[in-house]
Amino acid sequence: MSRFFSHKFDALTPYVPGEQPGDKQQLVKLNTNENPFPPSPKALLYAREHTRSPELYSDPEGVELRRALGFLCGVRPEEIVLANGSDEVLNFAFMAFCDADHPAVFPDVTYGFYPVFCQLSGIPYREIPLKADFSIDPEDYCRARGTVFIANPNAPTGMLLPVEAIEGILASDPDRVVVVDEAYIDFGGVSCIPLIKKYPNLLVTRTFSKSRSMAGARLGFAVGCEALIGDLNTLRYSTNPYNVNSLTLALGLGTVLEESYTQRNCAEIIRVRELTAERLKALGFRLTDSKANFLFARSDRISGGELYRKLKERGVLVRHFDKPRIDDYNRITIGTEDQMDALVEAIKAILEERT
Ligand code: PMP
Repeated sequence: MSRFFSHKFDALTPYVPGEQPGDKQQLVKLNTNENPFPPSPKALLYAREHTRSPELYSDPEGVELRRALGFLCGVRPEEIVLANGSDEVLNFAFMAFCDADHPAVFPDVTYGFYPVFCQLSGIPYREIPLKADFSIDPEDYCRARGTVFIANPNAPTGMLLPVEAIEGILASDPDRVVVVDEAYIDFGGVSCIPLIKKYPNLLVTRTFSKSRSMAGARLGFAVGCEALIGDLNTLRYSTNPYNVNSLTLALGLGTVLEESYTQRNCAEIIRVRELTAERLKALGFRLTDSKANFLFARSDRISGGELYRKLKERGVLVRHFDKPRIDDYNRITIGTEDQMDALVEAIKAILEERT
């Protein structure tokens, strides 16, 4: 740290992203919940055809993409804001809707970026422990004061709350904002987006990184009533109006216009998830009931840390969190069936080595 770095960041511990090794070709990369399939053919076509003028700024309003997304999600374009990945729009939401009088409230085991956003903006926060089985008790959030952030499905557990539970939290206090992070909703959950018509205190965030194969292109969005979206736009125009570049806008539009491709890939990932879960259970693993594009698994036969290291030695990368409550587990992204075969074979070999 230089002697010039402002003391206002003394308490900041930056987020640590999953490893992105250079020689990806050599690895079975199952550590950052990317989609194993390429973006849709239409997305690639649009990206080639619609970005002939990178010397010009991108459309700060993302008009075409918001129109298409509005149609897909059943909302008006004015109820959508686009962002450079959902991380950006989540950061805006923490900035916009939290302060000393409105602390952030989220589970103790959830997306690791939430406390970082709080530290970055000097926002107080409270972590509510998940139940012993890692489920969220909605009652905890009905009672809590402050701005609620819930990843649904949660990460890294993959566990899903039904829409009715979220609606209960929204209705319990219309005077505080509830942000539902639906990064993984396309892999078996039901979205809360239709509830924005009834609850002006609901903001839903989504990403193109997981179900739409665009992690590297960085595209996310939030859906909420016009007033909430207006607040986020105030912050967006105060930081970077061109937050989504023109290549990404084109990729995103092509993707949305070819929704059947996304749906097919999601169905395949769900199929491979269930297959892999069964195979891991047969090896003695215990798993949460994940409705995301990853599994969260532990074994009594090997610690989470050791399994992570041994898999890495064999060229299979998964995500291990060295954190209380979850250090026995590994989070395993669902890749292609071939990749999951390689994972299961590597685990078998590692377990056999120990017997
Ligand atoms: N929310 C959750 C729960 C996530 O796991 C992630 C991915 N790390 C994100 C949001 C952010 O995704 P992105 O910025 O790629 O849209």
